[in-house]
Amino acid sequence: MGQLALQRVSPLASFPRRPPCLLPPSWAPSLLSCATASRRHGFYLARAMSSHIVGYPRIGPKRELKFALESFWDGKTGVEDLQTVAANLRNSIWKHMADAGIKYIPSNTFSYYDQMLDTTAMLGAVPSRYGWESGEIGFDVYFSMARGNDSVPAMEMTKWFDTNYHYIVPELGPDVEFSYASHKAVDEFKEAKALGIDTVPVLIGPLTYLLLSKPAKGVDKSFCMLSLIDKILPIYKEVFDDLKSAGARWIQFDEPILVMDLDTNQLQAFSDAYSHMESSLAGLNVLITTYFADVPAEAYKALTSLKCVTGFGFDFVRGLETLDLIKGNFPKGKLLFAGVVDGRNIWANDLSASLKTLQSLEDIVGKEKVVVSTSCSLLHTAVDLVNEVKLDKELKSWLAFAAQKVVEVNALAKSLSGVKDEALFSSNSMGQASRRSSPRVTNAAVQQDVAAVKKSDHRRSTEVSARLQAQQKKLNLPALPTTTIGSFPQTADLRRIRREFKAKKISDIDYVQAIKVEFEKVVKLQEELGIDVLVHGEAERNDMVEYFGEQLSGFAFTSNGWVQSYGSRCVKPPIIYGDVTRPKAMTVFWSSMAQKMTQRPMKGMLTGPVTILNWSFVRNDQPRHETCFQIALAIKDEVEDLENAGISVIQIDEAALREGLPLRRSEQEFYLDWAVHAFRITNCDVQDTTQIHTHMCYSNFNDIIHSIINMDADVITIENSRSDEKLLSVFHEGVKYSAGIGPGVYDIHSPRIPSTEEIAERINKMLAVLDSKVLWVNPDCGLKTRKYSEVKSALSNMVAAAKLIRSELIKS
Ligand code: GLN
Ligand code: ZN
Repeated sequence: MGQLALQRVSPLASFPRRPPCLLPPSWAPSLLSCATASRRHGFYLARAMSSHIVGYPRIGPKRELKFALESFWDGKTGVEDLQTVAANLRNSIWKHMADAGIKYIPSNTFSYYDQMLDTTAMLGAVPSRYGWESGEIGFDVYFSMARGNDSVPAMEMTKWFDTNYHYIVPELGPDVEFSYASHKAVDEFKEAKALGIDTVPVLIGPLTYLLLSKPAKGVDKSFCMLSLIDKILPIYKEVFDDLKSAGARWIQFDEPILVMDLDTNQLQAFSDAYSHMESSLAGLNVLITTYFADVPAEAYKALTSLKCVTGFGFDFVRGLETLDLIKGNFPKGKLLFAGVVDGRNIWANDLSASLKTLQSLEDIVGKEKVVVSTSCSLLHTAVDLVNEVKLDKELKSWLAFAAQKVVEVNALAKSLSGVKDEALFSSNSMGQASRRSSPRVTNAAVQQDVAAVKKSDHRRSTEVSARLQAQQKKLNLPALPTTTIGSFPQTADLRRIRREFKAKKISDIDYVQAIKVEFEKVVKLQEELGIDVLVHGEAERNDMVEYFGEQLSGFAFTSNGWVQSYGSRCVKPPIIYGDVTRPKAMTVFWSSMAQKMTQRPMKGMLTGPVTILNWSFVRNDQPRHETCFQIALAIKDEVEDLENAGISVIQIDEAALREGLPLRRSEQEFYLDWAVHAFRITNCDVQDTTQIHTHMCYSNFNDIIHSIINMDADVITIENSRSDEKLLSVFHEGVKYSAGIGPGVYDIHSPRIPSTEEIAERINKMLAVLDSKVLWVNPDCGLKTRKYSEVKSALSNMVAAAKLIRSELIKS
């Protein structure tokens, strides 16, 4: 009862019951050398320098929030413990920004799970299955929506624009009754204020919120989300009133949806919504931020025509064309929040270059009208470089994580107002120069190889049907061959062995022996199950990108460079800082060992160049495709070494190919061209009898199916069952696919065991649109997150289903 009562009191951002204890010193975000431009030196503020941060990572420099959440979810700690950790994080972030001299400090960018879910809570748009009726939304309902509970599944999660952050998709329809059900925005504002910090509360704008929603169950797919705008605006108004009473002077609306190709109706809805809110916004300065790309001309016009807005935020890292629009016309007297510090990467800003950009912007929009800002929320970069004790000094001088970017923003703002921190600028330009000239970055031979790449399209010389025939002669597989995607369950024991090996606590020989035993177990299991094309199970790998990055040159790894992916889940992307080469074979030893354990084909297992690229922090001193081609050449060497070692089936995973798709349609074709080309480079020279597989996670491939065909793989395994078999619809529409294809027959994300009948039914559905000669039978994705007990039953049913349909095929 006590807990329940606590949860009723605005728990999502409420103050902890005890006063927030100060963080231990190691928590305090570090500042770069001369970042003493603090509020303590009030004279800086007097010079009207203006700096702003769009948003800040909430997970904590050492993932404090992750651990607090997980411990709370496990019932090991209580509500208060979680709230205290959260309050301490918010407190230290605000203080850091204030101390650095940031003028417009955001609040309400903290979240216990996700900012879209927070907005759903604010609007009281809780799907009925969670049993909420009224009152302030508590942790119980909030986390049930995020993660599901014993009786109801979670809400769907999907990627936030083209980032690796995932948000909880609102489920809306004509019957949703909105109400003001989470006071988090105002609570956080007050919390900062009590600390003496005046903040800019941040809300997701109504247009972005609605256009990222999906129809709730039972609601027609064609339901127009924008028809709900009149219903949600009154709630936004209540929030404004609350904020005003609490003393807020600013409000920030994040409207990243404006960078997408919106149609006239959508833009009209945007204009109408903000015009409608005009009177209720009176008394507040309004900032609308856009990010992740250029704002298209039409959207720019709609945005800058709004009367109620004081300032507009643009991404000047990804959106260089916006500059032309600003030159053409920027409303007089308004503020331009110029996102020149990259929120999506870890590179130190080239301060001198940014200063020039800012000065030219000032020439256009007027003195003191430019506010220096980040390109987007810093949520998408790592938290604090100070915790990277293992990175060498030179490399560190090239980097800036969120805490350092705050300092950069402020240093730029100071310079713009005429107070240049010479020492900081000079150390920054030394870092930039060393990065440009370092032999660690440039490798002339690789550069030449990549220049030569553009002369060919790297297609295999024989077309796919003939290759498949040649492969079938060699592999002699049954109809509907069965396979898995690569990984088998990663047990605690396995993780311990890898950890001990890394820490040099066990010898090479013992390590190889331990992994060999694991391979043998996995091979034996697959043979017993009757799987046709085997995998070694990836016991030697911790992560499909890190494993390769660690063996390639040009990659660096951080100890704490975590970025939130969803909820408490974080990823630690490698940093690609230099030209990529492959000093020696990476997987041949393990794959050959595994192949020797069986007569059946054993797939060589590689991560493809586009996925390695898209899941890393990529260098910003050359185009992404150049880096991708370099990785492709390294993987090509590996493919050929595997082939020479007698591996006849090689899978090159491109799980993240779709993720790199640019937001703007006009840029998509170029990306797909080079991404698909990079994939072809990896395997263009193998023999016809070597079968190249690729694998892709997540569905949503229908719009890029032609690029997938263009990858020219022999077999593709692809996620399908989790996404209601959306994938198959493309074949209904008559797309011809003549290569091998294995749309996943069951969802590996859930512990549920699919029955033989259910899988057989799925296979039959596939056969309705795909030829039995090209169809493969496999799960949606790798099995590393599952338990052995689940994997055994699910795969056994999968093989039984394949056999059942095979026998039916023979009969017919
Ligand atoms: N081969 C990898 C695995 O099975 C693929 C993982 C993925 O697609 N994300 O785990
Ligand atoms: Zn996958």
